[in-house]
Amino acid sequence: MKDKLGTISRTTSNMPDYDTFCSQFSWEKEYESLDGLPEGGINIAHEAVDRHANGDIGNTVALRWVRKDKSFEDFTYIDLKVRTSRFANVLDKLETQKGDGIFSLLGRVPSLYVAAIGTLKARAVFCPMFSVFGPEPAFQRLSKGKAKVLVTTTVLFENKIKQLLDRLPLLRTILLVDADCHIDDKVRSLSLLMSKAADYYTIKNTQPEDPALLHFTSGTTGMPKGALHVHRAVLTHFVTGKYVLDLHPGDVFWCTADPGWVTGTSYGIIAPLVNGVTNIVDEEEFDAARWYSILEEHRVNVWYTAPTAIRRLMRMDLMPLDSYDLSPLRLIHSVGEPLQAEEVVWGKKTYGMPICDNWWQTETGGIMISNYASMKVRPGSMGKPLPGIEAAIGEVEGEKVHLLTKPLEQGHLLLKAGWPSMFRAYLDEEERYKKCFKGQWYITGDLAKKDADGYYWFVGRADDIIKTSGHMVGPFEVESALMEHPAVAEAAIIGKPNAIIGELVKAFVVLESGFEANEATKLDIKGYSRKKLGPAIAPKEIAFIKRLPKTKSGKILRRLLKARELGLPEGDTSTLE
Ligand code: AMP
Repeated sequence: MKDKLGTISRTTSNMPDYDTFCSQFSWEKEYESLDGLPEGGINIAHEAVDRHANGDIGNTVALRWVRKDKSFEDFTYIDLKVRTSRFANVLDKLETQKGDGIFSLLGRVPSLYVAAIGTLKARAVFCPMFSVFGPEPAFQRLSKGKAKVLVTTTVLFENKIKQLLDRLPLLRTILLVDADCHIDDKVRSLSLLMSKAADYYTIKNTQPEDPALLHFTSGTTGMPKGALHVHRAVLTHFVTGKYVLDLHPGDVFWCTADPGWVTGTSYGIIAPLVNGVTNIVDEEEFDAARWYSILEEHRVNVWYTAPTAIRRLMRMDLMPLDSYDLSPLRLIHSVGEPLQAEEVVWGKKTYGMPICDNWWQTETGGIMISNYASMKVRPGSMGKPLPGIEAAIGEVEGEKVHLLTKPLEQGHLLLKAGWPSMFRAYLDEEERYKKCFKGQWYITGDLAKKDADGYYWFVGRADDIIKTSGHMVGPFEVESALMEHPAVAEAAIIGKPNAIIGELVKAFVVLESGFEANEATKLDIKGYSRKKLGPAIAPKEIAFIKRLPKTKSGKILRRLLKARELGLPEGDTSTLE
């Protein structure tokens, strides 16, 4: 087997010039780069695995799984084809029907990736859950998603699922990835079933609009809703993998996200495989030294991570280039939260390249706005719309949308509906789904601005906006300014109801090590932010906090800080992705 790891170092970008590329782009043309099923139609699993296994790169490493002890195991495209075919045959044997919900509750182990692709082969709908979920969030998702099959481990089953079985009458089968024998008719050994299954599977006719993936999302507010995606989404995964992540043949790619969050599925599974590169999967959680050694040892070319991790790396004060050979690394991307200008600049100082921010959400299924390898990065901006995506800033009043066209006007971030990976439903919540669209526009729920050159700047979630003394303040603006103060490692802003000014801006600050949590530090930060932001917007109150509450994907839970501040019920935060 010829391992192609690390054969590419510096390459030219797949999109040499943004404007030229936009003017020539068409989804139809890109669609032609996909293979399609022999019988017609399109299936994500075929594009991600079988197509490559049957072609020139069958022996290329598709997935490199790095175990907790740092030893690793490689799976070529051919290996993945065989394993996922077996999994699909197991589902057929269990009489799974097209569209049935197949859920996983697993850490980042190969079975998770095999189950995801095998499910898509069998035309069922895959829904990955975070393995750290307790019984209640698991129950909510399994019942809302009408799960028929759950893939998990013996321990997770015993501790979290067994107690729920009476409440989940539709859940027919539990497949245990680590059991040697079947427990009973319902709880079966996956390896035993796989060993008896044929290693060849013909994917049946799959239409682009057939459901494929279900992702529960709560953002940072509200209860989880199930966003449903279809097989056509693979076109967005292909296009963004190629032109945003700039994947080239022979590349090694690492997305640090868990598939329990949409980023870990769209970019931790589908996009790299569809683009035929080697995808690194790390079983372990964040650890700075480990991460740098993975980047070095596996010669990662493109690294996709999140601001929460970048901030933790920043706080460690390591200069990785002094101790690690990261020369194959040519592109770093980040998603999930605003990437502050300071963090982009830190990337340049630390890795020799700016960190590229990009924006999207569970509902969009893939990257929608981004900085690109060939485009000048403006620190603090999330970049420009993906070619083929029409974005705008607008005001929404009732059913009407009024577009704001002057530079830097603040409004709702809107996307023209109809891109391939757009969610097709909130499961069983038709009204809620309809409400997201006004005419031809999808309302993202975020506020943003567009500058005169077409770069987009994130302002905040519409729900998080603070109204103070007649000003509308986005938390991100204030948090970015605070983070420029040397004592501030992280900050979160909330609006605290106030009889005179509507809401008072309150900051929660995590201090850098070496700074004292005392009045003098508070005054210094207050003074600094007044100078930077003006007295109307600068925080009037500052509280020090050891750690900010966050979702599992690293987003700050401002709602929770507010509830605590006001002594309100906090709600069930264990369910937040
Ligand atoms: P989720 O669906 O859980 O991935 O959350 C999506 C939300 O995360 C978006 O609507 C934004 O509010 C936020 N988000 C994602 N990426 C960015 C980014 N690059 N800058 C600012 N906010 C972001």
